[in-house]
This record gives sequence, structure tokens and C-alpha cells, in this order.
Amino acid sequence: MRGEKLPIAQLRAAVKGPVHAPGDPGYDDVRTVFYGGIDRRPSLIAQVADAADVAQVIRLAREGGLELAVRSGGHSNAGHSTTEGGLVLDLRNMKGLEIDAAGRRAWAETGLTAGEFTTAAGAHGLATGFGDTGSVGIGGLTLGGGVGYLVRKHGLTIDSLLAADLVTAEGEVLRVDAESHPDLFWAIRGGGGNFGVATRFQFRLAEVDAIVGGLLILPATPHVIASFIAEAEAAPEELSTIANVMPAPPMPFVPPEHHGRLIIMAILAHVGGGESGERAVAPFRALAAPIADMVRPMRYPEIYTPDDPAYHPKAVARTLFSDGIGAGEAETIIDYLHHSDASLRVAQLRVLGGAMARVPAEATAFAHRSRRIMVNVAAFYDGAEERARRETWVADFAAALGGSRAGAYVNFLGDEGPARVREAYPGSTWDRLAAVKARYDPTNLFRLNQNVPPARRA
Ligand SMILES: Cc1cc2nc3c(=O)[nH]c(=O)nc-3n(C[C@H](O)[C@H](O)[C@H](O)COP(=O)(O)OP(=O)(O)OC[C@H]3O[C@@H](n4cnc5c(N)ncnc54)[C@H](O)[C@@H]3O)c2cc1C
Repeated sequence: MRGEKLPIAQLRAAVKGPVHAPGDPGYDDVRTVFYGGIDRRPSLIAQVADAADVAQVIRLAREGGLELAVRSGGHSNAGHSTTEGGLVLDLRNMKGLEIDAAGRRAWAETGLTAGEFTTAAGAHGLATGFGDTGSVGIGGLTLGGGVGYLVRKHGLTIDSLLAADLVTAEGEVLRVDAESHPDLFWAIRGGGGNFGVATRFQFRLAEVDAIVGGLLILPATPHVIASFIAEAEAAPEELSTIANVMPAPPMPFVPPEHHGRLIIMAILAHVGGGESGERAVAPFRALAAPIADMVRPMRYPEIYTPDDPAYHPKAVARTLFSDGIGAGEAETIIDYLHHSDASLRVAQLRVLGGAMARVPAEATAFAHRSRRIMVNVAAFYDGAEERARRETWVADFAAALGGSRAGAYVNFLGDEGPARVREAYPGSTWDRLAAVKARYDPTNLFRLNQNVPPARRA
């Protein structure tokens, strides 16, 4: 439904926040999402102010038959937070945050980014774990699971989620927690945006203040990669690591003779400063002479380096889980990275385990609890003509590493089709999600996402 049939006037009258349409000043800024190469022109973008606004936007989308995109931080790799010709429900202006420091809890509106939440909670020496990048929205990140610097010590982001306020496809505002709508509470912890629009999350806060963390760059040989993974698995749970195996970018802290050579650009984060932190990172420093070592005592929020709002990379990626990166897998990684000429290409390795793995698989819709390593392979592309070649490379690379047990992390999925969405939800998870979907969104209004179509259980 387009042109004169669009409910622009009704929408403007119905919501408190601004509504943007093509031709309005600032429309191009507002429609821009994180990833370059996603250049859609929504007919309307409603920047909602509260749950009542959200309900109105949902109602108008439903009644008008408009494709509805839901946007928090706008980082969807699949481009799900925008639409060609449809309606965007944009939560970015909803940044309310109530921190109960004594009670170790916070209510956070879903327009906040991980960095904004972390800075505010950090002022109290407290944190909830999000991902590796400050500009990512807590909306999408939390609903898909949330894997970051605290994953081994405090679990996934959803493991700190105590409750949510959710507006359903019918426009009802529900408090969702372990007692109230427990089926929905299970589903939104990993099931993504399938079940409604989350306007607020209540998180548990942990004491996380002094850490030892930062960037450690090592030469990437099969031996160093495999040893890095072995050390990360053997490390105390206080330490979480993200190892990016990639050609060294020409950054000021990388000596010029290493530019273009394969490195491990690792980010380490040890909860707790002092002796214990230094002890935990020492084995990584000893793997090879570091090319750069910026690991230091810091306060937790400093782990998020400032983001450049003008940065809009064009990238394709594949997500998978691995049950071991030994010398053979490390050689495969080196081999693939050598045989690509993409301007940036990377295998990102995150050792899991710890608190995340102690949550039973059936407790949340994120069910890959026993997988040892999360892998994401990615390549940048320039023109559209380059994209297909990069797609083939990431798909082949992922197949070489993952095989038939690859699985998928929903938040790292691109637009890869229904079979891949199913891989994010192993065992009985898929059927359970489809049944919850049938109950709360039987017409699949929320379908611009990693979609779980509604299905009643047999
Ligand atoms: C640079 C970068 C780094 C990343 N690092 C990590 C990481 O370290 N760990 C990790 O776990 N993930 C990471 N991700 C993946 C990230 O978690 C997902 O892309 C996530 O969906 C982004 O959330 P968002 O709110 O920014 O995105 P959006 O594009 O706004 O939302 C994505 C989708 O989530 C749903 N959604 C979002 N908000 C709501 C809401 N309030 N209610 C209902 N549905 C909603 C919608 O379906 C929407 O289409 C990263 C992504 C990028 C681009």
C-alpha cells in the first residue's frame, strides 16, 4: 500500500513522536541503518516516544496492511530494521534508564545502545553484559541472546534479563517475566523480534568495575591460533576473549611491516583488576611476541571504544558454532584468509562456556548452550558486483569450518533463508517458538526478522 493511501495524517495525529516521510528534511539521515549496501526507502518512519505510541504504530500497520520493520539500534545484518515502502517503528528516541544500584537492577528502554547503558551503569561500578560494540542497540541484541565480554562470567545478555514490557500484535502491553506470560518470557530470550515490540527490559546488574582488558595483537600462525583457543578455554571464567584472525589493517598501533599480514587481533576482558587479571592474560602474551599489547587495567566501560557514526561498512558474513579449533581448523582459517582479496576479511572466534553453558538448553530460546566456540566469518565488499563473490567465499569458508553441525547464532544471521533460521533453533526449540508465535502473533505481523512462522503444535 503506497502513495495517497498511506496513513500519514492518522499516524502523525496518533503518536507523540515525530513521523518522517520521503521528502521531509532529515529523512535520509533517519532511514540510514548501520550497514552500507542496505538502502531502502520506507514510506513512513515513526519515532515512537512510549509504549502507547508503539501500540498505535502497530495498529496502523496492521489495519493498513503495511510491511512493518522494527528498529532499535539499526545493526541488523539482514537489513530487517528497514523496509522498501513500508513502515518503520523506530525506538531510538526511547532512552529512559532507571538504575536501582542497591537492588542491582535496571529498567532500560530499548532505544538505548549497549554503550549508553554500559556507561550509565558503570558510574555505579555495575554492568550487564552486551556485545563487543557500543553502538549496537540493546533491543535486537538482547532478543537474540547477546554474547560479549562478560559471557563466561555472567552468561548471555538474556541470562541477566529479569522482565520485559512488550507490545503485542494486538497492541496489548504485557509485562513479561518468569511468572507473567512465562511462554513469552522463554521465547523472547533468543527468539528475536517475532513476538512483539519490546519497549523496556529489566536487567540484573553485576558488580563489574575494575577489569584487565584491551587489544592484544599476535601473529597468526596455525599454532598460535590453536594455542590461543586452548588458553581461552582453560582460562578462568572471569576472562572472555574475542579473537579476530585477519590481515593486519594499517592502523597507527600496527608497525608498518605487519600491514597486510595475518594477525590475531584479540580483545581480552578479565573481570577483576590487579594480580588475578594480570595472571589470566599472561598466557596469551606468552604465545608469541605481541605485535601490539594494549591490555591494561581499566574500568569496564572503557572496553567500548568510541564508534564513528559515519562508518557504514558493506559486509557479508556467516555464523556457525565449532566444537574445537585445533591446528587443522587453524590451517583452514589461514588458508581461506590467504585466498581472498577482500579489503577486509576475518574469522572471529569467541570461546564460550562458563556461566553461559550452565543454563539448561531448554531454559531459553537460545539453545546452543553446550557449543564451545562461536565463529563468524565475514568479508567486506565494495560494489554490488563484488558481493556475490564475497558471499561464495564466506559460505565456503563457513562450510569448511562448520560442517553439518554448524548451527547459527540468530543475531549474526544475514538474509539466508528459512533453513538457516531453523539452524538457530535446535531440537524442540523451533516447534516451541512456532507455537508461542501462533499464540501471540497468529497473522505473522512481525515477519521482517529471522522469521519463525506461526504453527500450532500437533
Ligand atoms: C558491528 C556489530 C557488532 C556486533 N557485535 C555483536 C556482539 O558482540 N554480540 C552479539 O550478540 N551480537 C553482536 N552483533 C549482532 C547484533 O546483536 C544484532 O545485529 C542485533 O540484531 C542488533 O540489534 P539492534 O537493535 O542494533 O538492531 P536493529 O537492526 O534495530 O534490530 C534488529 C532486529 O531485531 C528486532 N528488534 C530490535 N529491537 C526490537 C524491539 N525493541 N522489539 C522487538 N524487536 C526488536 C527486529 O526484528 C529488528 O529487525 C553485532 C552487530 C554489529 C553490526
